Amino acid sequence: MLTLTANDIRLGARATDWKEALAQAARDLEQAGYTTPDYLDGMMTRERQSSTVLGHGIAIPHGTPESRGAVVATGVRVLQFPDGITWHDGARVHVLVAIAAQSDEHLDILRHLTRVLDTPDLPDTLSRITDAGDLAARLSRTPVTPKCDRETLCLGVAATSPAELALVAAARLHRLHCIDTGFLARIAEQNPIDLGRGFWLSHHTEGARHPALALATPATPTPGLQGVFCLAAPRDAADELLERIDHILAGNAPMDRLDAEAWLAGMSGEAGPAVTATVTLLNHPGLHARPAKHLVQEARRHNAHIRIRLLEGDGPAVSATSLTRVIGLGARRGQTLRLSATGEDAEQAIAALTRAIHEGLGEAVAPLATAETRATHADLEPPAPLVDDQPIKAVAASPGLALAPAFVMRPPTLTYPDTANDGAEQIRRLQQALKDAAGQLQTLIRQAEGGEAAPILSVHVEMLRDEDLYQAAVEAIHEGASAEAAWWRAIETAARAQETLADRVLAERAADLRDVGRRVLANLCGAALPTPPDTPYVLVAEDLGPSDVARLDLTRVRGLVTARGGATAHSAILARALGLPAVVGAGERVLTLADGTDLVVDGERGCLVANPGRERRERIHRRLEHLSALQARAHECRHQPATTTDGHTVEVCANLGNTAHTPDAVARGADGVGLLRTEFIFMAHPEAPDLETQVHEYRQAFAALDGRPLVARTLDVGGDKPLDYWPLPREDNPFLGMRGIRLSLSRPDILETQVQALLTAAGDRPLRIMFPMVKDVAEFRAARAIVDRVQADVPVADLQVGVMVEVPSCALLAQSLAPEVDFFSIGTNDLTQYTLAIDRGHGTLSAEADGLHPAVLRLIRMTVEAAHDHGRWVGVCGELASDPQAVPVLVGLGVDELSVTSRRVPLVKACIRNLDLATARRQAHRALSLATAAEVRDALEAG
Ligand code: PEP
Ligand code: MG
Repeated sequence: MLTLTANDIRLGARATDWKEALAQAARDLEQAGYTTPDYLDGMMTRERQSSTVLGHGIAIPHGTPESRGAVVATGVRVLQFPDGITWHDGARVHVLVAIAAQSDEHLDILRHLTRVLDTPDLPDTLSRITDAGDLAARLSRTPVTPKCDRETLCLGVAATSPAELALVAAARLHRLHCIDTGFLARIAEQNPIDLGRGFWLSHHTEGARHPALALATPATPTPGLQGVFCLAAPRDAADELLERIDHILAGNAPMDRLDAEAWLAGMSGEAGPAVTATVTLLNHPGLHARPAKHLVQEARRHNAHIRIRLLEGDGPAVSATSLTRVIGLGARRGQTLRLSATGEDAEQAIAALTRAIHEGLGEAVAPLATAETRATHADLEPPAPLVDDQPIKAVAASPGLALAPAFVMRPPTLTYPDTANDGAEQIRRLQQALKDAAGQLQTLIRQAEGGEAAPILSVHVEMLRDEDLYQAAVEAIHEGASAEAAWWRAIETAARAQETLADRVLAERAADLRDVGRRVLANLCGAALPTPPDTPYVLVAEDLGPSDVARLDLTRVRGLVTARGGATAHSAILARALGLPAVVGAGERVLTLADGTDLVVDGERGCLVANPGRERRERIHRRLEHLSALQARAHECRHQPATTTDGHTVEVCANLGNTAHTPDAVARGADGVGLLRTEFIFMAHPEAPDLETQVHEYRQAFAALDGRPLVARTLDVGGDKPLDYWPLPREDNPFLGMRGIRLSLSRPDILETQVQALLTAAGDRPLRIMFPMVKDVAEFRAARAIVDRVQADVPVADLQVGVMVEVPSCALLAQSLAPEVDFFSIGTNDLTQYTLAIDRGHGTLSAEADGLHPAVLRLIRMTVEAAHDHGRWVGVCGELASDPQAVPVLVGLGVDELSVTSRRVPLVKACIRNLDLATARRQAHRALSLATAAEVRDALEAG
């Protein structure tokens, strides 16, 4: 996705010729830290191969695959040349979108830009924009792809009237989260409109969350009733979908009324009697500008009307003579293009285009490997290998440092036939493979019992039971596919649909789907999943599914590296819980590592180094020795209080998501549980746990705590934490939407049951309840009223009720909250996110979401002052409390309790014991006076 900020843009650039402009672009990329100086050579070579001008005044200079070694991180810089420059192909260019891409990410950027190019007068506008933010917004416009695909087709429905079919179609859109229940009600109230030729239309603009078109057709031929369309789209987004209906009305309805492919072809404008062909794209970086130009030139040579469509996905057919449209398909290697042509030269045109695509559209191409490697994208252009002793930037996912030989988990090569003609046998095989997979997962769940992976594995078992997935595979088997091909197709379709969701966490579920899908596929092929060595190693993988993590032998694995994924991917969450140093999103290059290559994983700085040189190796060993000595000492003293050298004690508690981990937290020296993320208990159940189940869960924690306090946060779902059985309306901005206490107050029954369970479980033991995401005292009062109500019936001996300070308004208004709350616990993860306006899980920006930013520190100080003025205590339970640099500052600001991942408890305690309060206060004071997080860190490092 192309997300630009004003900082990525340089306005008012000037150059005497295109070469100088290109050199400036290379310099800007380098200065932004994306490339090394060598990248300019790659960009030059690329221009020599063919111009990177897209048209409409935009060029997209980038390097060649060979120059990827000069790419440090994927990124884009935009240069505006108001006077224009004449490019070497004669085109006039006003904007350079210079791209540094480690793999094929630039394809997405290209696809994005093709949407921008639809605007008339674009070159003129681009040359005159004087506000970098404007230009960023214009280039970053997010395209909304209307949904109209296999999933929105309801073919052969047992219904005989347009009204019934309209409801079926609307219900499908509802299930796909494209409409809300209000829309459903409106469709139920209205009569479909007769469009002629047996087609009908139900349409409404209100309640449409995502533009979509569904079609329902009757099971038995019914006079005057071929099908009913249900259109959900605001007026400005309806045109593209109405065009699809027009194509059907123009005579493109298929003869075989149950053939989904034929309906989609008809709707996309492929005329009935057209000459058609499907061809697989073989170009390594996909259908980028150069091969697309070749394709368009070939299409223009023929006297035919040629359209082209990407079979994987839900886009319409586009004209094969439009360069921007063809690039806009965003086709990747291994995907299938469907060509259709009408007109005098239709046959020749299709034959020529098929040949051209097959031959690589002017580029050297290699045939595809097996079906499985195609499905997992493993056959993209081989990425450049890692250079010895050179750090590679990635996303820091879990702190710590490791140096060990790499074990690269390569998915097994699974070969299988695409087709089969014994449908019943294929279904039997699929059922057996599913059953085996469920058995294997149950075994893994037992092995992972009590661990963080267990709930995720349970979700996998649910996925295996998904009726829609199974039906999609069975349908494909009926159409002649083998069990393997049918199953993988079903998984890929579902995973891709998941990936298109705006919600990042839901989109990351695609990895879970593929993970569970591969397990079934391996069973079908009788293949074993890869086994790691029995000596210490760093695990390197494209992405790690939870079942991979559950299989990890923690006595040997020293660190994790993944090519894909962000900081919120399950692999990252699990790595943190397991205390394994990890970096994620390191790019496909890490997969080129040979097994046994020494690899440094620096989970603190977010980088990795292959084959470190002697000096670096010595440095790493020194750091490792220092760390392990520190850890050993800290472990020995873990049960002693965390008291500074001048006698000030700070409580150090543990953050838990699973009550079964409480004994472990206590064994590590935790003074209590400072944050029980109760939503994980809810997530581990297929439906909301009832009172009894919750009481049982919380009792486990109280029993293990043996009189130490338990701070339980009430259910915090929404935003980054979805709950499958509590579907939330799709929101453009879920982090600013229904989450935390807002959501709980909308279902007070759930909150009340939870509070009742906590109070019942507590009895005479110390219980602290806190509400997440509170913005002001009104919200606190509403939530507290529920606690008061329950407390009248369920008395407890030692209860305190507080709020989490996660929203800046809560800190700013701490003086008005403090008289009413018993305590504050500062959730620095969210507080930082909302204060700095940086999505905490953002793939690239999240590194800047630093809780040591003076703006966040000032909010912490305000909270502490307000609390202490009223005799209340303050904890910090966000990740900042685990950060060794931040601990003195937090202590110096007067924080009374730090709550951290269990594994960090001994270290944080040790760190406090080394402090004296006066120095900590001085450090905090200094930090507050600085202007940026970097300045704070520099000052702390300087001491
Ligand atoms: C926080 O926001 O800092 C916090 C502890 O809550 P969570 O990370 O669960 O949102
Ligand atoms: Mg939070």
